[in-house]
Amino acid sequence: MGRKFFVGGNWKCNGTADQVDKIVKTLNEGQVPPPDVVEVVVSPPYVFLPVVKSQLRPEFQVAAQNCWVKKGGAFTGEVSAEMLVNLGVPWVILGHSERRALLGESNEFVGDKVAYALSQGLKVIACVGETLEQREAGSTMDVVAAQTKAIAEKIKDWSNVVVAYEPVWAIGTGKVATPDQAQEVHASLRDWLKINVSPEVSESTRIIYGGSVTAANCKELAAKPDVDGFLVGGASLKPEFIDIINSAT
Ligand code: PEP
Repeated sequence: MGRKFFVGGNWKCNGTADQVDKIVKTLNEGQVPPPDVVEVVVSPPYVFLPVVKSQLRPEFQVAAQNCWVKKGGAFTGEVSAEMLVNLGVPWVILGHSERRALLGESNEFVGDKVAYALSQGLKVIACVGETLEQREAGSTMDVVAAQTKAIAEKIKDWSNVVVAYEPVWAIGTGKVATPDQAQEVHASLRDWLKINVSPEVSESTRIIYGGSVTAANCKELAAKPDVDGFLVGGASLKPEFIDIINSAT
């Protein structure tokens, strides 16, 4: 069976209650392919998760943007995987480059988070990607492989993992990777999974692209054989997110 196209919307730390209402209305009214063709997951800030989940059309799912690395308890300011499961939130984004860079999340810490979230029954969008300096130094694949290895060492079952390749230099910059640049890394990542995990995991795991995806550039990216969808930041707050969902077909 082919890999189902996946489109995630990362709202990051954006939105007021009114803005969230508007985005949900746009999503609910949008014409999109059926859920057996494209899987849509939007990720509002924690405080809006319950309201978005309750108001969103049922075939669209929600994700948290992070969760704590182990069972909840005396960890002020954190939200645990158990709480997300308790609220019926099926997905979580982990290892986003903003958290790696600004909050110092290491490869190992992200690997631990992925393993713990999966153990509690969450599905994970695991983000990897190189900085501009790393790309210019020719170490893109070394960086992406090390980030993926830190996850692979901690998990056995990849069926609930989507890998998001998000070059840091493309996130929020308007400087999208070319379809060939994205395809090159996605294909190498798939090879890495084949050699280091298994041919089955390599074949079935969705590798999605993130970094300045818009309605204008999504079709060409989506046409690449190893691009299985998108993680969209800025454009997921706008009506053009519907066009990006439609790039699957
Ligand atoms: C992201 O935050 O995951 C992202 C890809 O952002 P943007 O689409 O705004 O570059």
